[in-house]
Amino acid sequence: MPYQMFHDLYPALAERETRCITVTSRAKLDLPTGDYFFHEMYCNDQGCDCRRVFFFVVSSVRKDVEAVVAWGWEKPAFYEKWLGDDKLNDKLDLKGPSLNLMSPQTALAPALLNLAQNLLLRDPDYVARIKRHYRLFRDKIDGKSRGKSKRGAAIQRTALGSVKTSMKKLTAESAEYAEKKRKENRSRAGKRKQNDNSPSIENMKFRQEKN
Ligand SMILES: [Zn+2]
Repeated sequence: MPYQMFHDLYPALAERETRCITVTSRAKLDLPTGDYFFHEMYCNDQGCDCRRVFFFVVSSVRKDVEAVVAWGWEKPAFYEKWLGDDKLNDKLDLKGPSLNLMSPQTALAPALLNLAQNLLLRDPDYVARIKRHYRLFRDKIDGKSRGKSKRGAAIQRTALGSVKTSMKKLTAESAEYAEKKRKENRSRAGKRKQNDNSPSIENMKFRQEKN
């Protein structure tokens, strides 16, 4: 199951609806102060319906990927049935949320997994958004009808190349957005005293100004 950035197929929507969590120094989350972008990836195997998302977490601190968190929103029985092997499912933990074994992870990965589990995925609106994005993504991969399968195959063939390009691009753009936001916060800091200990959540709008 090759995974591809949601941004590859729906760039405008991804730019409006990618979640960014800002961690402040008071948040006590074992994470450096900064912005953490949860870029979404979905499976682009034609005809597959694995109902999982991979979060490709990029930080403004290192300006690079910190963790890849996998999560499935269905009940465990769905993944057992899908895999057809209970023991293998226990090992792979398809439901998660978990750190994907095959992906790059840094020392911050366990704390980011906690953040995803205890904050991000507790928000029902956000969970609904993930399911909606998955459906949109699958519709484009599989096509609305069988006749369109050639197009799906073409997308699949180019997937690996485009994943690499867009990860690089998204990483750079996340960093650019974080820098801009930091400047804004600095200029506001004198006027408003921050007394909120919890990390703030917002959608990434890093390119909206240009459009
Ligand atoms: Zn799949």
